[in-house]
Amino acid sequence: MTTGDQHGLLIVGASLAGLRAAQALRERGFTGPVTVVGDEPHMPYDRPPLSKRVLIDADWPPGVELPVPQGLEARWLLGQAAVGLNTAARTVTLSGNTRLSYDGLLIATGSVARPWPATRLLPAGVVTLRSRDDALALRAGLASAERLVVIGAGFLGGEIAASARERGLDVVLVETAAQPLERAIGAIAGAYVAALHREAGITVRTGTAVEDFLAGSNGHLAGVRLSDGTTVQADLAVLALGGVPATGWLAGSGVAHDGGVHCDPCLRVLRADGSVVPGVVAAGDVARVPQPLADGEPLALGHWANAVEQGAAAAETLLAEQGHGGPPAPFTAVPSFWSDLHSARIRSVGLPPPRTTRGSWSTTWPAGDWRSATTVRVGW
Ligand SMILES: Cc1cc2nc3c(=O)[nH]c(=O)nc-3n(C[C@H](O)[C@H](O)[C@H](O)COP(=O)(O)OP(=O)(O)OC[C@H]3O[C@@H](n4cnc5c(N)ncnc54)[C@H](O)[C@@H]3O)c2cc1C
Repeated sequence: MTTGDQHGLLIVGASLAGLRAAQALRERGFTGPVTVVGDEPHMPYDRPPLSKRVLIDADWPPGVELPVPQGLEARWLLGQAAVGLNTAARTVTLSGNTRLSYDGLLIATGSVARPWPATRLLPAGVVTLRSRDDALALRAGLASAERLVVIGAGFLGGEIAASARERGLDVVLVETAAQPLERAIGAIAGAYVAALHREAGITVRTGTAVEDFLAGSNGHLAGVRLSDGTTVQADLAVLALGGVPATGWLAGSGVAHDGGVHCDPCLRVLRADGSVVPGVVAAGDVARVPQPLADGEPLALGHWANAVEQGAAAAETLLAEQGHGGPPAPFTAVPSFWSDLHSARIRSVGLPPPRTTRGSWSTTWPAGDWRSATTVRVGW
C-alpha cells in the first residue's frame, strides 16, 4: 500500500457536485490542497445532454464538458475508484491501493443505473445509461437498431424514447404505473406526457411490466415479453429504472448509507446511531438529506440543480468544520428539475404530493401552440 503525499480537502466523485464543491472552496477563500478523485477517466461533464442531443446528433454536441475555472488548482486523480474509507484514521483507499489522508472529506459519488433484478444473464443488446461511455455505446446501438424497447417511462426513459424516435426508430415505452412520470409530476401532467409520446409515434404501454428478455440464436436480444402476455420484437432495450446511490465503497466504514449517505440538515455525514462523522460531508445524488418540505424526511434527489446547490453548501459546511467562516447552515434549497421531451420542456419546482407536507409544488409545460404554458400548482 502506498500513502498519498498530502492532507487537505478530499472530494470523492469528479462530476457535477464534486466540481461545484471544489469551485465553492476556492470562491470562499480556501487556499490549501484540494484533491478530486473520480473513477471515470474523464474530466467532469454534464449528464443531462447524454439522453438528449448526444443520442441524436451525429457529432459530439458542444457544451457537454463542464467548464473548470482557471485557478481552481485541484489535483485530479481520475480513473481511480475509492474502495474504502477509514473515518478514524481519516483516510480513503483507492483501487490502485493508494491511501489518501484528508483533513476534510466531501462524498459526491452520485448514483449508478438500477440494474435488472434478474438472476440470469441478460441477452446482448439490453443496456443502461448513466455515463458518457454508456451514451456513446447507446448511440452506436441506435445507429444500427430498428426496434427499441425502453423500460421505465421516467425522465430518463422518456428522453431516451424521444431521442430514439427522432432518429426514426420504432419505439415502445413500457411503464408499470398508470401514467409516465406519475410519481414525479402527478397524474394530470403524466397524462399530458403520455399524449406527447403518442403524438410523436411512440407506443406507450402503461400499467404493464416486462417479464422476460428473449434472445435469438446469436444470443442477441430478439424481443421482450410483457405482463399482459404479449411479446414485443426488439433489437435493443434500455433499462431506465432510476438510480441507486453509489455507496458500495462505504461498506464497513460506519457511515450510514442505506438509500444514500445519511446526512444531517447541514450535509454532515452520519453514523447509524445518528452521530456526526467528524470532517465528512456529502452532496448530490448520493446524499440523503432531511427535506424541510417533507417534514424533515431524509430524501436523495437525483436532480441537476440539487447537485449544484448541495455541492456548494457541503463545501461551506466542510470549511466551517475546519474553522473557516461561520457555523454550518442547514440546506434548505427548494427541489427543482427540468426534462426535455420532444419539443416540450417540463419543469417542476417543489415536491409533488403526497411527499410534500409544506409549501407548494408546481409543474409547467408548454401547451397548444407551444407558446403558452400550462401550470399545475398545488399549495398548502
Ligand atoms: C442521462 C441523464 C440525463 C439527466 N437529465 C437531467 C435533466 O434533464 N434534468 C435534471 O434535473 N437532472 C438530470 N439528470 C440528473 C443529473 O445529471 C444528476 O442529478 C447529476 O449528475 C448528479 O451529480 P452528482 O455529481 O451528484 O453525481 P454524478 O453526476 O453521478 O457523479 C458522480 C461521479 O462519481 C463517480 N464515482 C462513483 N463512485 C465512485 C468511487 N467509488 N470512487 C470515485 N468516483 C466514483 C461516478 O463515476 C461519477 O463520475 C440526468 C442524469 C442522467 C444520467
